[in-house]
Amino acid sequence: MAVSVLRLGHRFARDARISTHVALTARAFGAEKIAYDAKATDVKESVEDVVKQWGGSFTVEFTDTPMKYLKSFTGLKVHLTMYGLSLNEVIGKITKRGGDLLVVVGGKKVPSEVYELVDYNVSVGTQPHSEVAALAVFLDRYFRGGEVDIEYKKAKLKVVPQAKGKKVLSE
Ligand code: SAM
Repeated sequence: MAVSVLRLGHRFARDARISTHVALTARAFGAEKIAYDAKATDVKESVEDVVKQWGGSFTVEFTDTPMKYLKSFTGLKVHLTMYGLSLNEVIGKITKRGGDLLVVVGGKKVPSEVYELVDYNVSVGTQPHSEVAALAVFLDRYFRGGEVDIEYKKAKLKVVPQAKGKKVLSE
């Protein structure tokens, strides 16, 4: 079972930071891979730097044909949108399905085809907010909170939780 994220609508001029945050959130909340619909090399490099330091095997890829990518994905496909069915209503059915999962998030307007191609359009509340927030809440509910305790293999840096101050072990 693996969770991947497809991030649509990357805009080079304004989205590098948010696209990076989508990837870091995907990684930190249990996903294994992200695909962007644009060749955002700077985003890939900064995420790979984090993986080198903090461990794990999260990967970043690009696709020129995001609709083909979505169609050919063989597991369950979920699109996060404020217009979808309530997370509280559908999360039980989604977790029960098991197997591979692709979570689609937007940036600019998502093509209407996406709403038809996925198994579930899911809203994290019906207010507009952010792909980063929607992804974090969805993954946390999907993994029932266990993802925050993941131990990342081959980490050079590791935080030791402290009541006050900071403690980081480095190899
Ligand atoms: N009108 C958009 C929508 O369909 O949710 C909001 C655009 S928002 C700038 C960019 C992305 O954030 C959306 O494509 C969606 O993936 C995510 N998003 C924003 N609000 C959301 C919500 N309430 N529930 C689920 N996803 C949301």
